[in-house]
Parts: sequence; structure tokens; C-alpha cells
Amino acid sequence: MNKKDVIKLLEEIALYLEIKGENPFRIAAYRKAAQGLEKDVRSLDEITDFLTVDGIGKGTNDVIVEYVNTGTSTMLEQLKEEIPETLLPLLKLPGLGGKRVGTLYKELGITDIETLKKACLTGTIYQVKGFGKKTVENILKALDEMGQRPERLPIYYMLQLVEEIKQYLREIPEINRFSVAGSIRRLSEMIKDIDFVIDTDDAETVKAKLLQMENIKEVINQGDTKISYVLGDEYAVSVDFLIVDENAYASSLHHFTGSKEHNVKMRQLAKARKEKINEYGVTNLETGERKHFETEEAFFNHFHLNFIPPELREGKDELERFKEHVNLVRDEQIKGDLHMHTTWSDGAHSIEEMVNAAREKGYQYIAITDHSKFLRVANGLDEKRLLKQREEIERLRQKYPDIHILHGVEMDILPNGTLDFSDDFLKEMDWVIAAIHSGFNQSREDIMKRLKTACENPYVDLIAHPTGRLIGRRSGYDVDVEALIEMASETNTALELNANPMRLDLAPEWLDKAQEKNIPIAVNTDSHQTSTLTFMQYGLQVARKAYLQPETVMNTWDVEAIIRFSNRNK
Ligand SMILES: [Zn+2]
Ligand SMILES: [Zn+2]
Repeated sequence: MNKKDVIKLLEEIALYLEIKGENPFRIAAYRKAAQGLEKDVRSLDEITDFLTVDGIGKGTNDVIVEYVNTGTSTMLEQLKEEIPETLLPLLKLPGLGGKRVGTLYKELGITDIETLKKACLTGTIYQVKGFGKKTVENILKALDEMGQRPERLPIYYMLQLVEEIKQYLREIPEINRFSVAGSIRRLSEMIKDIDFVIDTDDAETVKAKLLQMENIKEVINQGDTKISYVLGDEYAVSVDFLIVDENAYASSLHHFTGSKEHNVKMRQLAKARKEKINEYGVTNLETGERKHFETEEAFFNHFHLNFIPPELREGKDELERFKEHVNLVRDEQIKGDLHMHTTWSDGAHSIEEMVNAAREKGYQYIAITDHSKFLRVANGLDEKRLLKQREEIERLRQKYPDIHILHGVEMDILPNGTLDFSDDFLKEMDWVIAAIHSGFNQSREDIMKRLKTACENPYVDLIAHPTGRLIGRRSGYDVDVEALIEMASETNTALELNANPMRLDLAPEWLDKAQEKNIPIAVNTDSHQTSTLTFMQYGLQVARKAYLQPETVMNTWDVEAIIRFSNRNK
């Protein structure tokens, strides 16, 4: 449990109270407590008395203490008994806040999406004050979109499910090895379904245990070597498990990882050698003899190829390229993470907790980069608080001499095109990230002006998440990426590959162009809690999709080189 969980609890209680039509002061108390926690610089473990947090009073304190100690909340449980949980999804609809959902529940007995839809279609909803034609039209439109599961879902959603399944598979002792396959393993941005390949000597037991997984909505297929079912909370997702023995594992994994186009090219290559590839191995067409491989690497080597990372198996020119050694950035070359948040702005963990998580990963350095003052919703820091934060970082530097802590900031580029801090102030920071978090609807011209100001500033080191996209949710602001790459090259400003699977920003096609221009790329997790420092692996997969070399990725550099870069105009 971390601070975010407690904040979520308080906000959820406030929502239920709002639906219930409770006293506005009572509702506000929970929201105030949530905000107070968000603003407090201490992490959950560091707060010994919640009454010392701004905005937390006796009532909210009791609720928090119970939740922290027991992991449950009587208050929330009671509210859930009084008010149908099925009302909560209604809050996502346009024009429906807690109060209005409460009114619909009390006056019309609307309890879920179905009953709401019926009330809209029959017109009974017009009996309730404040529901006009336009509102109802908007609700119906949103309901239609809600009902359909898009054909493909964003990678970040699927990765969460994959992690849960992996956790389950790790606990089945009869499984020798397993791997996710398919488009997730190749880190495609939008994903249709999930595939796993499992190596076992005891297929029957493994199959039985797979069928005991929680949250199975429907079993589609139970064959000798395959189990398929539908899982899911928010969306239904079909998952295939291919169950094979040790001999077939590597070939199966390659086969089910794809892509189709890559597999076609591999089969052509085999055919030219009078061989045939299938999921069980490689057969010599003249002798009929079948060859098995211990690993995918051995499989590729058989065809005189080096190991091709899954993310590059797209059926482009990878077969030609991997005849030779390809100098790609590797996970173990990463020495630090240059973008992360703490409780000082909107992160869940303290600086010290982030530092320790990075030390555990064996990093040589990190940059602490909380938000700047313009971003009020994220509790951004002004000059005064940044100076205070520097004292804390200084203390931690003394305490942990084995890691280099850069004092950075993620500074907003304001909608009017100015920066959130003066040059004199920025000059004193170890690491300056500039980013756009507002004014997404501005014209391309205005957006480019803002990015130009940032690139031309001598103390800005890096442009974060350069397009502002969220995969499958929003395309970002209107940016001319090619022109941005040009500006970054002229001003010697680095660009980010944000490794958060919601963003993966910049995308590979742009990274490739940036590398051509010798622009340093920082692969950063933008972590708001310790657990997401692992997002680095996804960022590196994207980096390899663009054939980024170790020298291009600046967090393979030593800390001295990072400091030299940050001092280039000082
Ligand atoms: Zn940001
Ligand atoms: Zn950030």
C-alpha cells in the first residue's frame, strides 16, 4: 500500500457520499484530506501521525488509520452496501457527476448502465430536473461507445493483465519455462489478444491449473496442447496458452511471437536451404530429419543469423541486418534514470525511497525531476520549495555516496510560450527537463513556438514526452516532429523516449531520425512510484525498434558525461 492507494480510498468515499446526497461539508472533508496527503512531502511510511497532515481531521484520520492498518475500510464497505457499485461507471459519462447520478438513483431507481439507457430511450429521464435533450443525446452516444470493446486495446492495459498472468504462472511448479509471445512480446502499440508459450513435462496438471485462474469469463478451447479463455474486468481479453515440451519450446515461441511477415521471410530462407520451419522445429526436406533447439538464439544461429530481438521481428530488413552483429542498446547498459517524481509534487514515494529503489537496481545516477509551479494540479514546486528540496537531496547525497543524485526539475513550457523559471535560476539546477502539459488545442505554430523557446534556452537539457500522446487515448498536441528534431539538433538539446507504456513517446520512426542527427536520447520512466522504474525495459524495446545504438542513449553514459552535457552552456 502506498499514498496513492489511500488517496484513492478517500476520493472513492467522497464519490459515494456525493451519490448518496450527503452533506457537502462532509464530502469536502474527504476531498480535502486527499489533497492534503497529495501535497504532503512525506511518503506513507514517513507519516507517523496523520493528524499532522494539512486537511486531515479526526473523522478522516480514523478512516485512514483503519485502512492503513487492516487494508480495508468499514466506511467504504458500508457505503458499498447502501449504494450499488454499478452506479460508479455512470460517473464517466458526460454531464453526470456524483450529485446527478444520486438523483437518478433516488428518483428513477437507475442503478446501472442498462437502466440508464432504458430511461434515456423511453424518455422517463426527462422527469428529472436538469435533463434536457442535448444532455440525453450525449449520454446515449457515450453509452454506445462504452458498450463496444475496441478491436485492439492499448499496450499499457494489456501489460497489466500480462503481469498478473505471469505472477500466476510463476507459482505453478510443473512449468519449466514460459514466455509471453505474440504482438505483446514485440511491443506493438495496440494489441488484440494475449499469447503464452509454456514448457512442461506435465501438460495435464498445467492445463488443470490454468483453468483454475480467477476471473475467467468463458473457456473457448481446451485442446491437447492449447487452452484458450476470456479474461477481464473492464474489457474481455482472450488469452491463448500453448503447452509444449522442452523440444518444441524455442520453435513454438518463435512461431507464436511472429510477426506473420517475419515468419514468412524465415520460411523463405529455410526453403532456400531445403528446410521447413514449423512450431515444432526445423525439418530437413531431403532426409526428413527434424532438428530441435534449446533456445531461440540457437534457432536463429542455425540459419546463420544473430538473435533478432522480438521487437524487431516485423518482416522488414531484419534478416539481412542480423547476418552481421548489430550494435543495439541493451538493458544491462543502462546506468541511470533521468526523469522521476516524488511526494514533493505528485509522486507516491519520497526522494529517499526513490533513491533506494534506484540503488537496488544498481544505478550509478538518477535525476529527481518534480513538476514546476505552473502545474498546480500536480503540486508543482516554486523556486523556494526547490531550494528546500535541494537541502534534502544534499542530505541524501551524504547518506548514500554510492549513487549520484542530480537535482532536476520537469519545468512547464507555459501556454503563452514562456518558461516557468528564469535563466539565472535554471542555471543552478543539475538537470532541466522542459515539457508541455497544457494548451493542447493550440495551433501547430503556437506549439512549435513554445518548443523553440525551450530548445533555445541554454539551460534546458531535455524535452520530455515530445508529442504528448497517450496511446489509444489521445494523439497529443499538434507538433511538427521533424522540425522539433531539427531544432534539437541545432541547439544540442536532448529528446526523451518516455518509457511509460501509456506514452512510449517518441515513437520509433522519430527516434530513428533523431539518431541520424546525433541527438542524444534519454530513455526515462517518468516514475511516480518506485514500482514503475521497471518501465525502463519497455522504453529499451522501443529504442531497439529504432535501432538505437548505446552511444545514442544517454543513460548508458557515465555520470561525468551527463554532467558535461548539462554544463555545455554554463
Ligand atoms: Zn510530464
Ligand atoms: Zn514527469
